[in-house]
Amino acid sequence: MAASKKIIAEVEQLRNEINQHNYRYHTQDDPVISDAEFDRLFRDLKSLEAKYPELISDVSPTQRVGAAPLSAFSQVVHEAPMLSLDNAFVEADVLEFDHRIRSRLQSDEEVAYACEPKIDGVAVSLLYEDGKLVRGATRGDGTTGEDITRNVRTIESIPLQLLGKGYPSRLEVRGEVYFPISAFTKMNQRAQSRGDKEFANPRNAAAGTLRQLDSRLTAQRKLAMFCYSVGLVEGGELAEKHSEILQELAIWGLRVNPLVETVLGAAQCVQYYKGICERRESLTYEIDGVVFKVDDIGLQQKLGILTRTPRWAIAHKFPAEEGITRLNDVEFQVGRTGAITPVARLAPVKVGGVTISNATLHNMDEIDRLGLMIGDTVIVQRAGDVIPKIVSVVLEKRPSKTTNIELPQTCPACGSEILRSEGEVAARCTGGLSCAAQQRESIRHFASRLALDIEGLGDKLVEQLVDEGLIDNAADLYQLTEAQLVKLERMAPKSANNLLEALENSKETTLPRFIYALGIQEVGESTARSLAMHFGDVAGLLEADEALLQTIPDVGPIVANKIHHFFQQESNLAVIDSLIGFGLRWKVEDTGIIANSLAGETWVLTGSLNSLTRNEAKARLQKLGAKVSGSVSRKTTCVVAGDAAGSKLVKAQELGLKIIGEDELITLLEEYGA
Ligand SMILES: [Zn+2]
Repeated sequence: MAASKKIIAEVEQLRNEINQHNYRYHTQDDPVISDAEFDRLFRDLKSLEAKYPELISDVSPTQRVGAAPLSAFSQVVHEAPMLSLDNAFVEADVLEFDHRIRSRLQSDEEVAYACEPKIDGVAVSLLYEDGKLVRGATRGDGTTGEDITRNVRTIESIPLQLLGKGYPSRLEVRGEVYFPISAFTKMNQRAQSRGDKEFANPRNAAAGTLRQLDSRLTAQRKLAMFCYSVGLVEGGELAEKHSEILQELAIWGLRVNPLVETVLGAAQCVQYYKGICERRESLTYEIDGVVFKVDDIGLQQKLGILTRTPRWAIAHKFPAEEGITRLNDVEFQVGRTGAITPVARLAPVKVGGVTISNATLHNMDEIDRLGLMIGDTVIVQRAGDVIPKIVSVVLEKRPSKTTNIELPQTCPACGSEILRSEGEVAARCTGGLSCAAQQRESIRHFASRLALDIEGLGDKLVEQLVDEGLIDNAADLYQLTEAQLVKLERMAPKSANNLLEALENSKETTLPRFIYALGIQEVGESTARSLAMHFGDVAGLLEADEALLQTIPDVGPIVANKIHHFFQQESNLAVIDSLIGFGLRWKVEDTGIIANSLAGETWVLTGSLNSLTRNEAKARLQKLGAKVSGSVSRKTTCVVAGDAAGSKLVKAQELGLKIIGEDELITLLEEYGA
């Protein structure tokens, strides 16, 4: 049945209402109806669209859920380059910036600046044609970015259709997509409880989420956006001041930061900076400074651009995130393979809004290098995406009483001897699988996402199970009973059953995952894959000697020795036997490789690729069974030369190797279904 005029009007009306409420909620933070009422409107629209599918359109608010995964992002050449900003780190830099502007304009008058917080996210360009969102792209190198349209469509503060009237027929809006701190924290909590890898910070998480090939994942993760400038403008005109353009964008439904202010002169810019510094911790998103822009667009044009940097704007960055505190103690943690890692326990200190009480020290060499002693005053740095570290000791503040940091002679977890073998940086517990710490870490590894991926078996639970003496090794997991589990703290019958079910499901796995899960020292994912490829089953691997192992791509003498040694240990063989006895299985052909089309080949990637990252290209080639190497040799099968390829390309030409470009690579990957 075709939709009547009445139905069409009703759908239109519902969409308008939902868009308006979305705008009030996500952009203005000022909802006028309850969530329940909103849900009702949404349901009504969905049911009408289900009844009359011909009425579904791209701009319907129901179409934000994401779509089937892409195999790669295509490239977008920005119509107007996306510029980068010059940085100011101290007040004097801001005064000088203002001075340069006035002398260039030959004016003594104070300049009006638009000031805004600098969001620590990912720069994105949105293209609207006749008010309809037609493209979203990453900044890339400023000239060329990636087409992430499907992903930006899932972000609720980005309108699919501009509101109101009067917008130019083609309008490119730019801004920052970011992860709200609360959503970020929740996501990491979930990852932690599943034993998955956590994101280091909201910016990395936003970048990773925006570049998901599966936009349905992006949709689940509640990103947000603030718009801060325009690029291309055709078929219409915008206001003559930057601050007024932002107001226009807001009227059309685009989200603009509420802390934008216009000030007069450099002194007020500095005031603004100080004000934002004070508010920084109370914001619901992370910022890394503020931006000052000459407000008058005519003056901006007069000032122009110096290479890729506008002369009319500057980012005043917050200082590097460092703090000063006291080293209270050093504890030694035991890793999966027995490696002993010193961890600094610090008097809690706030660095960049985050309280830090631990820092990594890597190994004993690092402690020597720093000349560190317990009781010392130290400078700690939080470098955005890594675990905090100690950068130096403040010797002037060294108290009269300090204690040397010494490697313990015995393992803090099991009491076995600790040895540091020659040529190795790490010291290790010699307790092997009888060491509770190593048991715990190897079981965590076994259950981790890239290994058997056992949902619900998080770090805390593994610790509890080991401490209670319920499990010693990975095979013991499969003997756990509901009666044992429900006795644990915070374990309801339902979660116990879920865990048992997840364990049951994990029995069906792939060979590379299984080999990786064993936790053999030096055997990461890619080596596990090579071993799986070569042996096709566990039996051959168990019997392989070092010479045979070394014929496998990825396996050198050290790795071969570790693998051989691992399978010489009776305790390891017993665990493998029990696992197989409990029904762990993998199909031989199910090795995680889509096709062995490139088996036995060695590929080298050089230069920069545009439509996919080097890691993606590597992963996809590996899926086809190729080995991806970092250096060109006679053994190389094929070299992929991206932009600005250098010495590796030259060498490949000298050796007369096969060389292909990015486009050919993509064609090939697609042909083989990787
Ligand atoms: Zn130990």
